[in-house]
Amino acid sequence: MRAKLVLGNWKMNGGVASAEALLAAVREGAAGLAGVQVGVCPPFPYLGLAAARLSGSRVTWGAQDVCEHDDGAFTGGVSARMLADLGCTHVLVGHSERRTLFGDTDEVVVRKAARVLAAGLVPVVCVGETRTERESGATEAVLARQVDAVCAMLAPAGERCVLAYEPVWAIGTGLTATPQQAQDAHAFIRSRLAAGGVAAAPRLQLLYGGSVKPSNAAELFSRPDVDGGLIGGASLVAADFLAILGAAAHRG
Ligand code: PEP
Repeated sequence: MRAKLVLGNWKMNGGVASAEALLAAVREGAAGLAGVQVGVCPPFPYLGLAAARLSGSRVTWGAQDVCEHDDGAFTGGVSARMLADLGCTHVLVGHSERRTLFGDTDEVVVRKAARVLAAGLVPVVCVGETRTERESGATEAVLARQVDAVCAMLAPAGERCVLAYEPVWAIGTGLTATPQQAQDAHAFIRSRLAAGGVAAAPRLQLLYGGSVKPSNAAELFSRPDVDGGLIGGASLVAADFLAILGAAAHRG
């Protein structure tokens, strides 16, 4: 049985005061929940704050991106080792905003994920199709390309990887994949991982991301291959994030 996992992606939002308030609320609200793993991914400058405020709680913290290189002359870069030093557990790689706004290719995504693994952390590899790709019937071809790139790096073990299915058309748009669309994509991703030689495919957590809200979380999380969520906008509102955690916990 795969444990449910819910991660909050704060993106580039907030400041010290709002981060303090959100960390305190999530820490307190998550304390009473069982059956769900919880993490938040604040912007880099607040990771130290997250470490200070969440240590000793059941909430973990992670980063939204990482440099594909190790230490050295990479101005502005943050290495996986630095994230490990800060106590991060998870690192998002290949979020669609990184792919489209910052030019992260499949190859870059794989190199980043490999750095994360080498630092002992869990990469959360984001994949997903655009609206045009879905409407033209190319969803599975896009997912296959993105997943295959990761398989080559993960096989044969792949125990320490999470994949997040995030249809680009659902991110921050208010549009959500139907539970069946999410299940179909997740089942496809899992079978593609297995076909790509990742023996741990049946055990890997696959998260859904794209306008998850308190009103749709329980139904999404009820599908057999949906092992939790990657939550953007709703993770900035403590009550909403906690309600989503509750939806996962009930089915844990
Ligand atoms: C995300 O950015 O990973 C995301 C899923 O955003 P939202 O929940 O706001 O659609």
